[in-house]
Amino acid sequence: NKQVIFKNFVEGFPKESDMEVKTSSISLKVEEGSNAVVVKNLYLSCDPYMRNRMTQSDQETNDPEFIPFTPGSPLEGFGVAKVVDSGHPNYKKGDLIWGMVKWEEYSLIENPQLFKIHHADVPLSHYTGILGMPGITAWAGFYEVCSPKKGEKVYISAASGAVGQLVGQFAKLMGCYVVGSAGSKEKVDLLKNKFGFDDAFNYKEEHDLDAALKRCFPEGIDIYFENVGGKMLDAVLLNMRLRGRIAACGMISQYNLHQPEGVYNLMNIVGKRIRMEGLMAFDYFPQYAKFLDVVLPFVREKKVVYVEDIAEGIESAPAALVGLFSGRNVGKQVVAVAKE
Ligand code: NDP
Repeated sequence: NKQVIFKNFVEGFPKESDMEVKTSSISLKVEEGSNAVVVKNLYLSCDPYMRNRMTQSDQETNDPEFIPFTPGSPLEGFGVAKVVDSGHPNYKKGDLIWGMVKWEEYSLIENPQLFKIHHADVPLSHYTGILGMPGITAWAGFYEVCSPKKGEKVYISAASGAVGQLVGQFAKLMGCYVVGSAGSKEKVDLLKNKFGFDDAFNYKEEHDLDAALKRCFPEGIDIYFENVGGKMLDAVLLNMRLRGRIAACGMISQYNLHQPEGVYNLMNIVGKRIRMEGLMAFDYFPQYAKFLDVVLPFVREKKVVYVEDIAEGIESAPAALVGLFSGRNVGKQVVAVAKE
């Protein structure tokens, strides 16, 4: 059983060498009377929140996003897998599932809380993205937290990624004016030509983010879907309209800094009556069926397209995860571990 072992707590940017692919000879089986399952992992999901779990913390938390990994043990994350052995009444051998697994070829999961995959006519890798955690994030973040209306002006940072590409397409379906930013020409082309954004810019080539936003939004921004934080948030605050909304989904530019950057333009929230609200995907997991009713037809009818960046083989997992923090991924970063 090949495993991706978390070697030790990380400071600054994570490196491939913070992880190690090793083979374990321990055989996994469900003990008599246990309600565990053994799964064969097919796809592993690389997600930015995993960086939080690489930091040592003495704060008590029940939030799975913040429970630190254990040095010497495999990383954990969302994955798509097939049940190969089960002592649990809700799961049987052969079931396809998505949920929290370990970064290894086979995982023994005690007290499984896994979503069963009932629709396998779409690519299974989608259950790490558009039909999994990032999909729920985009759906709840846009439709619920942003309270969008037709014709509103929407701005999305890290717009070509797992969450951002979906938010932009949901906003276009609603009849909004949509602009995204991303870190390369290839990504900007995707935003404009594949995802149908009205406009897009490469934030790495703009020395003045405020000017870039004024160029794209001469009348200001109604909705900002925040994935990046820091300087980007500061520039956006200057360009928000009266009663604008900011969905604080993530702030990836801050995750590897020793000291978070200052945000100086917060007073705009007061005068412009801006509502800024954080969201956590896990809160919406109980609404998964409702989410699927909306988003699965979008996939099947090709109303929404989804770009994935699939790294082959479990050995590629450390580089794939680390790549999120330099923007190496083009679209949702997935690791393909095995075929069904
Ligand atoms: P992505 O697929 O967008 O991958 C991360 C991207 O972030 C990179 O490709 C890169 O794109 C961009 N990035 C990396 N470093 C920086 C930086 N310093 N400044 C600006 N951009 C940077 O990831 P996800 O779509 O999975 O996640 C997007 C955001 O949503 C993250 O902040 C994440 O933490 C958050 N999130 C929050 C959830 C929640 O429950 N609240 C759930 C899921 C995600 P580029 O080339 O464009 O720079």
